[in-house]
Amino acid sequence: MKHELPKLNYAADALASVISTKTMEFHYGKHHQAYVNNLNNLIPGTRFENASLEEIIREADGGILNNGAQVWNHTFYFESFSASPKSKPEGELLAAIEIAFGSFDEFKSKFSNAAVTLFGSGWAWLVIDTDGKLAITQESNAGNPIRKNQKPLLTCDVWEHAYYLDYQNRRPDYVQAFWNILDWKVVEDRFRKSR
Ligand code: MN
Repeated sequence: MKHELPKLNYAADALASVISTKTMEFHYGKHHQAYVNNLNNLIPGTRFENASLEEIIREADGGILNNGAQVWNHTFYFESFSASPKSKPEGELLAAIEIAFGSFDEFKSKFSNAAVTLFGSGWAWLVIDTDGKLAITQESNAGNPIRKNQKPLLTCDVWEHAYYLDYQNRRPDYVQAFWNILDWKVVEDRFRKSR
């Protein structure tokens, strides 16, 4: 099975108030594409030749795991954005967030803190944990919650390639701006399908 770079439903310059066109060209056009190409080069002749990305994340190791997870993570990340996003969750997702974190603002603060304090390269996540409750987690490098039987709802890429062209060393500024393009409708849909 040949993996492909997913098409995005917004233009490369649509998020420019937060993620510049140049960052999109490199992050989506070069980095995400490279993970797809690497994976396609690694899997022929292995038992993962026809495996889904989820199977690869659960069962592979080494380069196949790292590149497969990075394909999945980047698709999940880029699909979360919109030029006209829904700025707050409602309904059952909002209720679950309030139960787990106290309030929506408290959730944003805790998630932002996880993204800012993650040492080195990786991803901050909102997941449904194995006990059914919402949790904020950090994963280094290509880490993905599916490997721990958690269900991902939202992620923020804090590899330097995600923000360095636009924010240089100011990761907190990137994380703060991230909320402005995050489409909570996407997260609500994921929450609905994960339960
Ligand atoms: Mn990235």
